Amino acid sequence: MRCLLLALPFALLPLAAAQAHDDHEHGSLGKHEHGVATLNVALEGSTLEIELQSPAMNIVGFEHAATSDAEKKTVAAARAVLEKPETLFSLPAAAGCSLSENEVRSPLFGNAEADHDHDHDEHADGDEHHHEHSDVDADYSFTCKQPGELKTLDLSAFYKQFPATQKINVQLIGPSGQQGVESTPANPRLSF
Ligand SMILES: [Zn+2]
Repeated sequence: MRCLLLALPFALLPLAAAQAHDDHEHGSLGKHEHGVATLNVALEGSTLEIELQSPAMNIVGFEHAATSDAEKKTVAAARAVLEKPETLFSLPAAAGCSLSENEVRSPLFGNAEADHDHDHDEHADGDEHHHEHSDVDADYSFTCKQPGELKTLDLSAFYKQFPATQKINVQLIGPSGQQGVESTPANPRLSF
């Protein structure tokens, strides 16, 4: 009994440390790097979840609230595209996936908080650049009739639509386990 209680805090430690690290890397207020987006893809049963987190810079080319008509048009167009994820993430037709949930958030869309305080990597030397950074977050859920046919996910259309995106760090969870993949425009195809 005593041994078990003593062992417990040590057993919990690595997990807590891992979670803290994870929050830092992927939390919505963590630092972001222009050109780099994060994508979490999880297939469980017949449900496919896709979570996108991207600097607004990659999506519309700026991160402040749209003021000019041109900026407002750009924001509206980007939002319309993001709300049709079927056109951004090419899923094999044989899998028969249909969109069941769709949530797109950004301070630029007026439905999320801006991230005012974090600095860019290039400003980590302590200079006082407090840009207003904004992310675009999207959560999608698909229901697939034949999830076994879901062998690939192609991001070509996403890169084509948002060419300022140079890299997507992907966490993929599927029937064969979890894998981290670095996707680029030259390497847009993910395999489950
Ligand atoms: Zn930024």
